[in-house]
Amino acid sequence: MKYSVLIRDDDNSKKIAEYIKKNIKYSYDENNPEIVIAIGGDGTLLEAFHKYPNSIVFGLHTGHLGFFANYNPDDIDLLINDINNNTYKTEKIPLLSMLIEEWNGNVYYEDAINEATVLSPVKTLILDVKIDDEILEKFRGTGLCVSTTAGSTAYNKSLHGAVVDHDLVVMQLAEVAGINSNAYRSLGSPLLVSSKRRITLESDMPLELSVSIDNLSYSLKEFKRITFYYQNHFMNMGYHNLEGFIKRIARTFIDSGK
Ligand code: NAP
Repeated sequence: MKYSVLIRDDDNSKKIAEYIKKNIKYSYDENNPEIVIAIGGDGTLLEAFHKYPNSIVFGLHTGHLGFFANYNPDDIDLLINDINNNTYKTEKIPLLSMLIEEWNGNVYYEDAINEATVLSPVKTLILDVKIDDEILEKFRGTGLCVSTTAGSTAYNKSLHGAVVDHDLVVMQLAEVAGINSNAYRSLGSPLLVSSKRRITLESDMPLELSVSIDNLSYSLKEFKRITFYYQNHFMNMGYHNLEGFIKRIARTFIDSGK
C-alpha cells in the first residue's frame, strides 16, 4: 500500500502532516498512491481528488469550513490508526461528468465533485439550454453553474440554489446574473433535474469564455457545447464515523455544531 499527503499552505497543516508521515506504516509515493490524505479544507480535498482521481481520499480539516472532511484535528491518531489497520470505511460521492466541445474540434471529458461553471464576466453569453434534447430557454447573462448534490453547498449556494440532501443524486442548474428581459427570457430560478437526464449548454457560434471545474479553470477560445450527465463515476472518501447530512450543514452554516 502506498500513500501521499496534500497539505494546505499553513503552519498547522504542515505540522500535522509531519506527524502523520512519521506514523503511517506504508510507503510514501507521490506518483501512484492508493491512499491520499488531504490536510486543510475542502479546497485541499478538491485538489487531492483532481490530482489522484483513483485514490481513496481522507479529509482532515484544520480550520476553515471543512464541509467534506470526515476527520477533524482531534482525530489525527484515529486517522493514522484507521489507515494502518484498515479500519476505515469508504463513501462513494457521485461525480458529475461532462463533455466539452469546441468549434475547432477539440473535445474534453471531465468529472466534477462540486460543479462546473461556464462564465464570461465581460461580454454576456448567449447559450441555448437543453434538458435531454428539449430546448428549455435561450439564456443571456454572465453564465451558468451546474452543480452536483455535494456541490449544492458550494458555489451553487451563493447563487441561491437549494442545498440538496445527500441521499438524492441530482444536477442543479443555476444562473449567474441572467439578464431576463423581453429579448431573453430564462427561468430565473435554480432548476433541479434528475440524474437520468442530460443538461446541454450550447452556442451557435464560437465563444471565448472560461469553464471552471471545481478548483480548476480553463479558458476556451471556441466554445461550442458542454453536456452534463451522470455515469456512475465516484470519488472514494475514507471515514471512520460519517457525520449525518443535517448535522453537517448545521455545523458548516448555522451554529458550528454547538
Ligand atoms: P476558494 O475560492 O479558495 O474557496 C471556496 C470556499 O468554498 C472554501 O471556503 C471552501 O471550504 C468552500 N467549499 C468548497 N467545496 C464546498 C462544498 N462542497 N460545500 C461547502 N463549501 C465548500 O476555492 P477552492 O478552495 O479552490 O474551492 C473551489 C470551490 O470554490 C469551487 O468548487 C466552488 O464551489 C467554490 N467557489 C465558490 C464561489 C462563490 O461561492 N461565489 C466562487 C468561486 C468558487 P474550505 O474553506 O474548507 O476550503
